[in-house]
Amino acid sequence: MRKILIAGNWKMNKTPKETVEFINAIKGRINREDLEVVMFPPFLSLTSALEAIEDTNLFIGAQNMYYEDNGAYTGEISPKMLTEIGIKYVIIGHSERRSIFKETNEMVNLKLLKALEHNITPIVCVGESLKQREELVTIDFIRMQIKIAFKNVPREDVKKVVVAYEPLWAIGTGRNASKTTAEEVCKAIRGLIADLYDEDTSESVRILYGGSVKSSNVKEYFSQPNIDGGIIGGASLNEDFINIVNFDI
Ligand code: 13P
Repeated sequence: MRKILIAGNWKMNKTPKETVEFINAIKGRINREDLEVVMFPPFLSLTSALEAIEDTNLFIGAQNMYYEDNGAYTGEISPKMLTEIGIKYVIIGHSERRSIFKETNEMVNLKLLKALEHNITPIVCVGESLKQREELVTIDFIRMQIKIAFKNVPREDVKKVVVAYEPLWAIGTGRNASKTTAEEVCKAIRGLIADLYDEDTSESVRILYGGSVKSSNVKEYFSQPNIDGGIIGGASLNEDFINIVNFDI
């Protein structure tokens, strides 16, 4: 049984002070024990966030990391630094990292391997552009992203990886993918992992949907057989996050 994971990707929002205020405002109101709820504040807010979630059932993750433990990489944060402060989740290869900061599939792969080495749960993002969807190459494109991301990941580690399907055209646009489209692609992703490894292994991997998820549409995704949670941007920054997490089963 795969436990539902709800990830709040704050992106470049909330100062350390705002982080603490927000967590204090929501923490007593998330009453679900059957979910894993992880918030991803900016690096500078991680320590305050970790302190603010003490004695709650919430978790904190990082939005990115580099694939070396230390060295001459100005501006980067290493997995060693993250684990020392108690971070256990990291988002890897978000489409904004890929498109704005030119992260390649090969970098995503190196980050994934490094996160696993440090026992940090990686959430690896994949997803097609509107052009690719219109050209009917969605699954081919995602197959390539998945194949390179999982290169050299041993079978026994695959179950520790979380995959997030985030179609680019649905991110921050208010144009969420229909539950049918989201399920279709998440099912295909599970199939791709089964092709790379085996069916049992693919059944143990959690696959999330992301892109304009809010409390009014969350339930339709979570009732799909191959969708094991969501990664939420805009709606994770305000009170709607509480409604998302407290969705009716
Ligand atoms: P929105 O929920 O704002 O569309 O963002 C989705 C996302 O990018 C989460 O990682």
